[in-house]
Amino acid sequence: MAERITPRSEDYSRWYTDVIIQGRLADYSPVKGCMVIRPNGYAIWEGMQQILDGMFKETGHVNAYFPLFIPESFMKKEAEHVEGFAPECAIVTIGGGEKLEEPLYIRPTSETIIWSMFKKWIMSYRDLPILLNQWANVVRWEMRTRLFLRTTEFLWQEGHTAHATFEEAEEETLKILEIYRKFAEDYLAMPVITGRKTESEKFAGALHTYSIEAMMQDGKALQAGTSHNLGQNFAKAFDVSFQDKDGQVKSVYATSWGVSTRLIGALILTHGDDNGVIIPPKLAQTQIVIIPIWKETNRNEIFEFTQKVYQQLRNQFSVKLDDREQYKPGYKYNEWEMVGVPLRIEIGPRDVQNDQVMLVRRDNREKISAGINNLNEEVQKVLDKMQNDLFARALKFREENTFRIDEYDEFKRVLEDKGGFIESHWCGSEKCELQIKEETKATIRSIPFDQKKEKGKCILCGEDSEGRVIFAKAY
Ligand SMILES: [Zn+2]
Repeated sequence: MAERITPRSEDYSRWYTDVIIQGRLADYSPVKGCMVIRPNGYAIWEGMQQILDGMFKETGHVNAYFPLFIPESFMKKEAEHVEGFAPECAIVTIGGGEKLEEPLYIRPTSETIIWSMFKKWIMSYRDLPILLNQWANVVRWEMRTRLFLRTTEFLWQEGHTAHATFEEAEEETLKILEIYRKFAEDYLAMPVITGRKTESEKFAGALHTYSIEAMMQDGKALQAGTSHNLGQNFAKAFDVSFQDKDGQVKSVYATSWGVSTRLIGALILTHGDDNGVIIPPKLAQTQIVIIPIWKETNRNEIFEFTQKVYQQLRNQFSVKLDDREQYKPGYKYNEWEMVGVPLRIEIGPRDVQNDQVMLVRRDNREKISAGINNLNEEVQKVLDKMQNDLFARALKFREENTFRIDEYDEFKRVLEDKGGFIESHWCGSEKCELQIKEETKATIRSIPFDQKKEKGKCILCGEDSEGRVIFAKAY
């Protein structure tokens, strides 16, 4: 890990890659466009999985697993769906040395295979709702890839639910979006905007799509999670109907929703600094690293004290004791900073004498001396403070880089000079949306839930508008 991380000010894109490669979060693989997630990166994913899995189960969802392969005929049943996904699909045509009768798509998402099964499982209103989640990999063939943000194969969770009414499906779609918001803000310390996607930005095959959108440190937007109300599109395509309480036969309503390993990229781009990634304490799989500082003369004394501190903390926190003798403390500091461990505890001879330790925060490097009598409470306090500070800092950054703009020339200039989120009026036409995208590379990220009713004129065509939407360049 001796290599240097390129500073953000020098080359932001290079910095991002360096943080991942030097911090051993992931590596390029021999397969173009695919990445290897290394243990430091996979630990972040495991932290995300544990928290989200708990939140899904708490709200009545259960996990299941469906095949990686999807028959071509399934993909073709929902017209918009196949049109949206076919260009980025990998297809298996040979199996066991023989040409397959029907080609198999490697799942880009699992709606079709899951709804083919729902047809078998749903007969009556008594079979509803079905609330499933799957932790899986998917493949979407990408021409231009970036570690964690856009790779040909990635890991995710995909929820798929079936309901008797539109209202229930809509409630589910919004419930999940709220879980994503809470997860992003309370655990990743990443402020997000919740809202609806425009028709041209929605999921292929959905009635409508909601998303959480976050601002990265370079002012670009990142879509961090999506929740779709699929209406009856998939039920109709797969002929899934049920007999309702009133005896009538009706089509089933569907939702689907997902977040992926892209969130690791979002985490780096939100909190990372020139020393590496910063993992918020509530997400970190290792919250604390203890580093003893000794000489040959006081070695035993220091190690004994360090053991005592380690045993005291490990009941409450996830702690690593780095007592490797072949590395100097300074080297260890760099290494643990690079992988983002929230709190470092240094223990030297004077600390042992005074029954205290030195706490060093990863985010701002603040040093806090703490006595070992109430060490656990003090550490908890520092971790809580750090969690809150990370969120507050990211929120402040977003607020400082959000602009209300009513004039198209200024719109273009701000996008060019500063980036960030731009709140502007939009008439609702796809034509304006696409022309703006073509001319500025900015897309409508969100029609935010907290949009205020406000009369205005479309930033491009000048037609009437009822409220502002959020434009930004996006990852
Ligand atoms: Zn317009």
